[in-house]
Amino acid sequence: MSRAFNFCAGPATLPEAVLKQAQSEMLDWRGTGMSVMEMSHRSDEFVAIAEAAEKDLRELAGISDDYAVLFMQGGASSQFSTIPLNLLGDKTSADYVNTGIWSKKAIAEAKRYGNVNVVASSEDSGFTTIPDQSGWNTSADAAYLHYTPNETIGGLEYDFIPDSGDVPLVADMSSTMLSRPLDISKFGLIYAGAQKNIGPSGLVVVIIRKDLLGKARKETPTMMNYQVIADNGSMYNTPATYSWYLSGLVFKWLKEQGGVQAMGEMNARKAKKLYGFIDANDFYANPIEPRFRSWMNVPFTLADDALNGEFLKGAEARHLLNLQGHRSVGGMRASIYNAMPEEGVDALIDYMAEFAKERG
Ligand SMILES: *Cc1c(COP(=O)(O)O)cnc(C)c1O
Repeated sequence: MSRAFNFCAGPATLPEAVLKQAQSEMLDWRGTGMSVMEMSHRSDEFVAIAEAAEKDLRELAGISDDYAVLFMQGGASSQFSTIPLNLLGDKTSADYVNTGIWSKKAIAEAKRYGNVNVVASSEDSGFTTIPDQSGWNTSADAAYLHYTPNETIGGLEYDFIPDSGDVPLVADMSSTMLSRPLDISKFGLIYAGAQKNIGPSGLVVVIIRKDLLGKARKETPTMMNYQVIADNGSMYNTPATYSWYLSGLVFKWLKEQGGVQAMGEMNARKAKKLYGFIDANDFYANPIEPRFRSWMNVPFTLADDALNGEFLKGAEARHLLNLQGHRSVGGMRASIYNAMPEEGVDALIDYMAEFAKERG
């Protein structure tokens, strides 16, 4: 069976070339007689793999030496608590913007550790827009300002980087990391669960400005202490070695594709095509205010929900997989991350056009 086009929001499709390379190296990594999975994380071989991955990520994303790059575990969700535990310091509150399900989860977790000031929310709109920053009720005394640049479930994305002044800006980039060029220097901390645009699930990449290290509360679990993880090269305990290795292969692949610049251009084209088709076809709809539509996750509904099952069945028959929307939103969702080729989007549009013609 040939590879399908997999539109899953996460774990998401990986580049075929990366999977093939991993396959060819699976039993015997470069003459060592071992799989990467079987290597000591302290071995020269694995340390070289780990360091190359960090170096390639730094190059790709333009991360300066002012920042530490951490390869942590527990996914993006574990960061919802790790962040307040480490960054609240001697402050009593943090600012959060509420733009959807992932923001809400981050807010709920942060409330366990301090006061959360929700500076703005687009809940009244059904999370179809981003509140204009001029109306945000931010506080100069906040420990940090947290936001979710891309709400993976709602398909809602900021088209600007918030200005947080002297307050460190913290961003959950799980579903948008490496999808286009980004000015890292505007951020205090960026985190990204790997399973969208980076590699296998479980791993979470944290990019933290070094002056924010060393502020963890006394009761912070050691495994969640950024300073400890940084001091130990993300090997305080056994790291997720195979996920780290695969992410490194993805970084190399991204560099071969022309890096984030080329990715950004391709991702913009893919999104424009798909939204353009949805807008031009009465049978499909997307509720998000156009300027805040996500490049990565494209939710859409059919004119008649009763046809959802049939739509999904027909899609599967054509090897267009995982188009069902999140259970909380309904309808469909096509996630079109870096590793989704343009042909995948074309194949989806062809199918959608045909389905609308037959059943619309
Ligand atoms: C997927 C996702 C998460 C959760 O990631 P886990 O690794 O499953 O914890 C958090 N935030 C955003 C924006 C996501 O897309």
